[in-house]
Amino acid sequence: MTLRPVIFIVLFLLYSNLFAQNRFTVLIDPGHGGSNKGAVYGNLEEHELTLSIALKLKNLLAGKNINAVLTRTSDKEVPLKQRAELIESVKPDLFISIHFNSQSFLTTNRGFEIYYPGDDLSSDSGKMIKDYHRANCSFHYGSIFKELYLKSALFNTYKMSFNMFTQKHDLLIFDATTAPGLLLEAGYLTSPDDRACIENSGFINDMSQLIYEVLVKSSQEKCY
Ligand SMILES: [Zn+2]
Repeated sequence: MTLRPVIFIVLFLLYSNLFAQNRFTVLIDPGHGGSNKGAVYGNLEEHELTLSIALKLKNLLAGKNINAVLTRTSDKEVPLKQRAELIESVKPDLFISIHFNSQSFLTTNRGFEIYYPGDDLSSDSGKMIKDYHRANCSFHYGSIFKELYLKSALFNTYKMSFNMFTQKHDLLIFDATTAPGLLLEAGYLTSPDDRACIENSGFINDMSQLIYEVLVKSSQEKCY
């Protein structure tokens, strides 16, 4: 074997390794699972809805220039602590926890909500700087989400309202992690208006497509 093919192979491996390292990594966290069903209303069960979206999203991302890691790919219970530990070991550019909301005794609360981690979780100055950076990056990705949500079929065709985009404290998935993250509450199962959207046959596809587009834009506008 001459030297030239060897050099070519080495350069190719180096290049593909560098390329892989520069890839945007997202950790997708479908909420609940197994006996932990989350919100339930009639046939709508939160643990199934979140998994359907996560699996569609995984398919959309397959072969694209974004690494996707899921906290679960089947209907099994995964403790929050274990999800947080996975996030800490993967160190994704962004993690997205997917949930659906419910409201006891009220049916008036409705709409899509996005939460991002707060930035004043510690008085320790080193941690405060990291928290501040994480909150800023999360806000950056959340702003992309909000922008694309307001242009999406979910808002313009299904008329699912956009309610909140806000910092959240005292959520274990934020408190026990350090990566930028967003928690989506993709509608209230207790709201007749939201159920009309969620029960639409295209809802899971459209929601997955929206998150996919958010991730593509986020990978192009990565927060450092
Ligand atoms: Zn939930």
